[in-house]
Amino acid sequence: MKTIGLLGGMSWESTVTYYQVINETVKNALGGLHSAKILLYSVEFDEIERCQSSGRWDKSAEILSDAAKRLETAGADFIVICTNTMHKVAPEIEDSISVPLLHIAQVTAKRLKAAGISTVGLLGSKYTMTQDFYVDVLVREGIEVLVPEGDEIDRVNSIIFDELCVGVISGESRQVLLDAIDRLSARGAQGVILGCTELGLLVKSGDTELPVFDTALIHAEEAALEALRP
Ligand code: GLU
Repeated sequence: MKTIGLLGGMSWESTVTYYQVINETVKNALGGLHSAKILLYSVEFDEIERCQSSGRWDKSAEILSDAAKRLETAGADFIVICTNTMHKVAPEIEDSISVPLLHIAQVTAKRLKAAGISTVGLLGSKYTMTQDFYVDVLVREGIEVLVPEGDEIDRVNSIIFDELCVGVISGESRQVLLDAIDRLSARGAQGVILGCTELGLLVKSGDTELPVFDTALIHAEEAALEALRP
């Protein structure tokens, strides 16, 4: 079994999901006492968020590249960045290591295509929804991406950073997300990507009629399957 190198702590609330889902997936595949081989480098998220909000992506790339190198040195066979947003600096991280990176948008695109979805709604941080680094990966796979409009971008972003990343679960915010999903559906989305690893703490598959693609679950499952691949 390969050793998975998790770059986590962004936020730690969702890294918990990764740890659990990776182990559950390995247990389901192998049974008995089997569990995943995991190395975790959990960053200080306040430092990373300051880089984001001040536009210092170069600095965050340095911090995460250093952490990824440490994971590789410790024996990780591949790296998993446990956040959508920080895939903004995935190219820099990839350049700094010699083991592969399992890209969150790429594994999500694979699931969307398997489900026959060609137009999808995307919820995530304002960086993920409004910049190119994430949407472009999906578009290159032939998937059309719809994101919320107007002040809904800031409302979703604030639910992520001011609530979910600090452990606040609010019914009112769940409704805000479900309303945003309804609007994406009305504009033609055939499914919705929870493109922030904390959003699954608030919205689950079945809460809406639209098929839900929870990136934390997908990424963690795919990481476990990759670890099991010869
Ligand atoms: N975990 C979130 C994501 O998947 C947001 C936190 C971050 O900025 O990394 O985008």
